[in-house]
Order: sequence, then structure tokens, then C-alpha cells
Amino acid sequence: MYMTAPLGSTSRIAIAGAGMAGMATALSLAQKGFELIDIYETASDLGFVGAGIQVAPNLSRILQSLGIWHNIKGDAVEVKETSIRGMSVSRLSMATKSTVLPASTTNEELAHVQLTHIEKRYGLPHCVRIATTHTAGSPTKAS
Ligand SMILES: Cc1cc2nc3c(=O)[nH]c(=O)nc-3n(C[C@H](O)[C@H](O)[C@H](O)COP(=O)(O)OP(=O)(O)OC[C@H]3O[C@@H](n4cnc5c(N)ncnc54)[C@H](O)[C@@H]3O)c2cc1C
Repeated sequence: MYMTAPLGSTSRIAIAGAGMAGMATALSLAQKGFELIDIYETASDLGFVGAGIQVAPNLSRILQSLGIWHNIKGDAVEVKETSIRGMSVSRLSMATKSTVLPASTTNEELAHVQLTHIEKRYGLPHCVRIATTHTAGSPTKAS
């Protein structure tokens, strides 16, 4: 008969993947008192990709509950509105240029979304956590 040991602080825990889910799981378990947590990651480098990451209220609420939102929000800016535009033809790759381009490739505004109501409705603002000097090449913090 197969017996499982009861879970306790000395249970060994293996987490596959050091993405947001793996890291949040590891932090949650550590905060619950688990001491033997190994995180396995196949990628050799977990550098910052892109200029920033959008942090919606549902994410910042989780980061708050993990006690790490205050570390992150210093590099975050509130997004008050978004403008969604068609990409200009010159910025498309050669491969893409060979396809038939829709009319929306002239930087015309396709949609404009106000986000100032987000904090009132969800209790936290919609933010972008920008890349900083310790996570990317150059700082881009908005004033
Ligand atoms: C272009 C793009 C932009 C995005 N922008 C945003 C944004 O602005 N805001 C936002 O909230 N979300 C954004 N997302 C979504 C967000 O990235 C994902 O929801 C989030 O990364 C999912 O986290 P995860 O830990 O589940 O998976 P992942 O981040 O994919 O992490 C999984 C990890 O597991 C590793 N792995 C896989 N298999 C194994 C294995 N067998 N053993 C060990 N390691 C393994 C992978 O290498 C990877 O590092 C974006 C996604 C994309 C693609």
C-alpha cells in the first residue's frame, strides 16, 4: 500500500518553472512555513523582457497579500488611459509586408480606453511596472 507522509514544514517541495506562478507558489509556501522548496527552471537566463509589465488590480492584490507590492509599486506608474493604434507599415518586418495589410496600419487610433475608473471600482489602479536599471539596460521611469 502506498502511504504519503503528512505535509509539514520539512516536506520537500519541488516546483517546476520560475515564472510568476512558480515564484508566487514558492513565496506563499515559504510564508506558510515550508522550508525545503526547490524551484527548477529550464531557461538559463530569466532576464527582463520588454519595457514593462502591466499590473492589473487582480495581480497587485495578490502581490499585496504576499507582502511584496510595496517593493514593486515604486517602479510602477498608473495607466490613466490607453490608445490602441494601427502599426505603421515601416515598422513591420519584411515577412509581414508581403502579406495583405489591413487599412489599420497608418497609426490611426483604433480604440481609446479610459482607465481612471479602475481604482475606484477595484480598489487598486491599473499600473505598468517599468523596467529599471536593475532589471533592464536603461531606466524609463515616467515622471
Ligand atoms: C508578450 C506577452 C506579454 C504579456 N504581458 C503581460 C502583462 O503586461 N501583464 C500581465 O499580467 N501578464 C502579461 N502576460 C502574461 C504573463 O506573462 C503570463 O500570464 C505569466 O507569465 C504566466 O506565468 P506562469 O508562471 O504561469 O508561466 P511562465 O511565465 O511561462 O513561466 C513558466 C516557466 O516554467 C519554465 N518551464 C517550463 N517547463 C519547465 C520544466 N519542465 N522544468 C522547469 N521549468 C520549466 C519556463 O521556462 C518558464 O520560465 C504577457 C504574456 C506575453 C506572452
